[in-house]
Amino acid sequence: RAKKDTRGTFSFFEVGMDARAQARRKIETDLRAALQHEVLRPYYQPLVRLADGRITGSEALVRWPHPERGMISPAEFIPVAEDTGLINAIGAQILRSACMDAARWPDDVRVAVNLSPLQFRVGNLLSVVMDALKQSGLPPRRLELEITETLLLEKSSQVLATLHALRALGVRISMDDFGTGYSSLSYLRSFPFDKIKIDQSFVRGLCDNRESQAIVRSIISLGNGLGVTITAEGVESEAELSWLRAEGCQEAQGFLFSQARPNAEITGLLDLQQSGASAGAEFAMGSA
Ligand code: C2E
Ligand code: MG
Ligand code: MG
Ligand code: MG
Repeated sequence: RAKKDTRGTFSFFEVGMDARAQARRKIETDLRAALQHEVLRPYYQPLVRLADGRITGSEALVRWPHPERGMISPAEFIPVAEDTGLINAIGAQILRSACMDAARWPDDVRVAVNLSPLQFRVGNLLSVVMDALKQSGLPPRRLELEITETLLLEKSSQVLATLHALRALGVRISMDDFGTGYSSLSYLRSFPFDKIKIDQSFVRGLCDNRESQAIVRSIISLGNGLGVTITAEGVESEAELSWLRAEGCQEAQGFLFSQARPNAEITGLLDLQQSGASAGAEFAMGSA
């Protein structure tokens, strides 16, 4: 409801705030129903090895087919899910689905799953991951968990202990959206990541931006020094791809290769790759 201010006029600011609060409440209600009916599901975006163009994994990205609004983007509902604590149940559901799907993919293909910092705070993350692996039969080495820099900001010993315990299971840990958080490099010393994903904001328009080039080049060299795989996110053009390959980036992901797709499509793509029928044609790497 719009409130009257002291001079009797309506404030657009308050009307705006109110509408936004209502929209969030509606998302929360609908999200609870979606969770209960298990309509949220992962789509998968291929991770491509630049040396030979093979799909070596896929990232699970949650999709919400909303009855009235069509597909709703995670950018819109993940923040609501985090504010309301629903992210824990959503995260567990997506993790389980992703492990179940990936268990049927070829044995050398991994699945990457995003984790919210809140999932580390509840205290049962380790058993959630162990259950998903056990129920699906997915070998731990085929699961990658993506975390963001904000998780490590607090320098919590509980978070570090959980990360080490996950790694002891054989699960791989990736640093997502690298370079956008507070990038205190000291955490790279306290935890041995398996992979660093360069945020897409540095990759977009890379070819015309000397600053981005300098940043990406130094992240690649940091990765080489640490013995960590470097993945470039958000690759959209051939020019970006060849620049990244020339600079020694090992892996890439982006609309140039594919958007996130339903499991049936990804499975088809992986089967084709496995049979050798496409001879790598799907993501042919030029003169590589
Ligand atoms: P993210 O983990 O960094 O995922 C990459 C995002 O970039 C995805 O957006 C993907 O569709 C998009 N993307 C990939 N390639 C390109 C490209 O070439 N160009 C452009 N413009 N975009 C590209 P999406 O699916 O909308 O997800 C957004 C974010 O939502 C994710 O960022 C992740 O932080 C979060 N998210 C998605 N699924 C989950 C989930 O299951 N759990 C949690 N906690 N977060 C999730
Ligand atoms: Mg991610
Ligand atoms: Mg990312
Ligand atoms: Mg992101």
